[in-house]
Amino acid sequence: MRIVVCIKQVPDTTEVAIDTEKGILKREGVDSRINPYDLYALETALRLKEELGGEVIVISMGPPQAQAIIKEAYAMGADIGLLLSDRKFAGADTLATAYTLAQGIKTLGKIDLIITGMQTTDGDTAQVGPGIAEYLHWPHISYVTSIIKADLKTLTVTTDMSDTIETQILKLPALITVAKDINQPRLLSYKLKLKTENRAINIIGYNDLTKGEEEFFGLDGSPTQVERIFPPQHDIKREIWQGNAVKLAQCTIAKLKELRYL
Ligand SMILES: Cc1cc2nc3c(=O)[nH]c(=O)nc-3n(C[C@H](O)[C@H](O)[C@H](O)COP(=O)(O)OP(=O)(O)OC[C@H]3O[C@@H](n4cnc5c(N)ncnc54)[C@H](O)[C@@H]3O)c2cc1C
Repeated sequence: MRIVVCIKQVPDTTEVAIDTEKGILKREGVDSRINPYDLYALETALRLKEELGGEVIVISMGPPQAQAIIKEAYAMGADIGLLLSDRKFAGADTLATAYTLAQGIKTLGKIDLIITGMQTTDGDTAQVGPGIAEYLHWPHISYVTSIIKADLKTLTVTTDMSDTIETQILKLPALITVAKDINQPRLLSYKLKLKTENRAINIIGYNDLTKGEEEFFGLDGSPTQVERIFPPQHDIKREIWQGNAVKLAQCTIAKLKELRYL
């Protein structure tokens, strides 16, 4: 089975400063890592490869520094790495990101399955996976929590829809996005890290993809614009009540009445 895993480089902290004027995250000087949700996607792919044979290809769209996460993926067991990097891809929203990744995947020949994380820890939209599938006209299922059965033609998966658990059969080629309940990602292997130290990463740019569709990439291909970005205000008022159980119960009832719950 030839499996593509989409991995994104994200800041290694949830405390990224915000440039409120430009409406962007200040990424300079902040350490980066693989989006944690993408580790579950990679682990899923590696387990399928161990069961059914084949290869695991990781793909990322980002600046040249994103090669670091591809190296990490090699040290977990990925076979091939592809980085889509070009000034023309910069400023992409989720639509342009999905389009660019879909064009990159098309350069890889026959692929059976694409796996993405459920969402990222910086953008958080969960739109990119389904977006890629739509551009490829492939079926897709989001929030997969387990793979019950897999062969070279179909996958049987469960998804947690919060009120219900659904079991679905998916005909390949297809795309799934995985939730973090699906598995426990393996750690990087030091042995693999040494072995893959000099393994090449294929870096491709706009000119290596389909020609003549410049308007679909980067900022030009992004119908959404971030108008404003700001940390949410935490407007939590606290009251401390003291006294015995009767007094505390009276306080609770008075508060519920004040808030018009009673
Ligand atoms: C106008 C605008 C400008 C922007 N400019 C920039 C910018 O200059 N730099 C920047 O970093 N972000 C920028 N962003 C944010 C960028 O659009 C999103 O980070 C990107 O589209 C992915 O969306 P997400 O993080 O919500 O991914 P989600 O949809 O939450 O991710 C789901 C899964 O898709 C896959 N995935 C997502 N993104 C990538 C990727 N790049 N490579 C490989 N796999 C991926 C991963 O498997 C991930 O788990 C901009 C957004 C807007 C709206």
